[in-house]
Amino acid sequence: MRNVNRKCKDYQSAYSPLRPFRCATCNRTYKRQQHLVRHMKYECGVEPMFKCPHCDYRASHNASVKSHVLSRHMKIRHDLWN
Ligand SMILES: [Zn+2]
Ligand SMILES: [Zn+2]
Repeated sequence: MRNVNRKCKDYQSAYSPLRPFRCATCNRTYKRQQHLVRHMKYECGVEPMFKCPHCDYRASHNASVKSHVLSRHMKIRHDLWN
């Protein structure tokens, strides 16, 4: 029991860290400046960089476009193949 309590305390203190780096646009907070910089550079207020070649869909991650193409456009082919 004593061990569990101690673990719980450590867990709590580890999960309430100071996050001094705040994004002025969306108020997300980060522990490390490099995380905030990366967020601002690639996530926040950035035009989605990847476009679907089949429609107007855009996403900031290539994986999102891939899954969009698979779910949205590959079904037609899938139907044809069957
Ligand atoms: Zn932001
Ligand atoms: Zn599309």
